[in-house]
Amino acid sequence: ENSPENSLSDSGVKVIVRMRPLKKADEEEGETIVQKMSNNSLAINGQTFTFDSVADTGATQLDMFQLVGAPLVENCLAGFNSSVFAYGQTGSGKTFTMWGPANALSSENLSGDQQGLTPRVFQRLFDRINEEQIKYTDKQLKYQCRCSFLEIYNEQITDLLDPSQRNLQIREDMQTGVYVENLREEYVFTMKDVTQLLIKGLSNRRTGSTSINAESSRSHSVFTCVVESRCKSMADGMSSLKTSRINLVDLAGSERQKLTGTAGERLKEAGNINRSLSQLGNLINILAEISQTGKQRHIPYRDSRLTFLLQESLGGNAKLAMMCAISPAQSCKSETFSTLRFAQRAK
Ligand code: ADP
Ligand code: MG
Repeated sequence: ENSPENSLSDSGVKVIVRMRPLKKADEEEGETIVQKMSNNSLAINGQTFTFDSVADTGATQLDMFQLVGAPLVENCLAGFNSSVFAYGQTGSGKTFTMWGPANALSSENLSGDQQGLTPRVFQRLFDRINEEQIKYTDKQLKYQCRCSFLEIYNEQITDLLDPSQRNLQIREDMQTGVYVENLREEYVFTMKDVTQLLIKGLSNRRTGSTSINAESSRSHSVFTCVVESRCKSMADGMSSLKTSRINLVDLAGSERQKLTGTAGERLKEAGNINRSLSQLGNLINILAEISQTGKQRHIPYRDSRLTFLLQESLGGNAKLAMMCAISPAQSCKSETFSTLRFAQRAK
């Protein structure tokens, strides 16, 4: 196993576990049941798990960026479709890691120390694009970035940048590949553009304010940036176009959705969440196996909206990072085990 500080680029799927600090309420219950053992292992109940990296309660948002975000940007600029998935039970820190403390949405919350992975990724992306664009004198290099933001709830796609667009359909086209019909895409040139899109999109996420299990925890959100670079050689005037994507995915809470006592729509919804997460797990498992053994296998992209939508960012030349969020609290033990087993299967 390589050192955990290595970039994401040496194998298809990187698995990073982040343990959030205990909350005040948990502290009353007693101590942490998960211990970080090394840069890439942790122990729970005497059992050790090994991943690519383990970040414990001491890890800052900047540490997470260096571990997951910076390699993502480099992979994207190298032409790979690159994604981060945040997986874990509700309350484990997925949203905090991906966006920041985004409960009260504001540009302040999306900047500063507590700033999450997504704004940091774009800051770096714009810096690197500027560097690349001025680096060459023998050719003209121009980048353009456009973003979309959607939510998958109960296997239905809603445009978070235009929530009047519900139940959008995924289409496939020989030329453009897989795309969501009628999904809004906006060009971004500065951090301010990105921040505005994030604030708008996040405020359109479903929230059930009265329920503990807010609806946002039962939906996947997918923020995608298409990075296009046009390169024109000064010598012969030939130009080429390269396209790669960044996907930042905040998955639905992985806690087992209760099927008892629910009926009708709610039962269907619970089933859909369980299914789409386990299908993502299966798929990543198959991809990891293919990259280890080199054997070809059928990849079941069409099993869920999420995997169908992201298929071009999952297989082949894609780079994936699974950020698995856990709580160290005793009360979360069985969900934590289940997240760690999911994370282990992705290796
Ligand atoms: P999830 O999206 O997985 O449901 P959240 O990201 O909303 O969980 O986190 C739950 C709560 O814990 C939030 O109040 C969040 O600010 C806090 N939190 C999560 N991770 C951390 C962390 N690493 N450091 C400090 N607070 C955290
Ligand atoms: Mg969340």
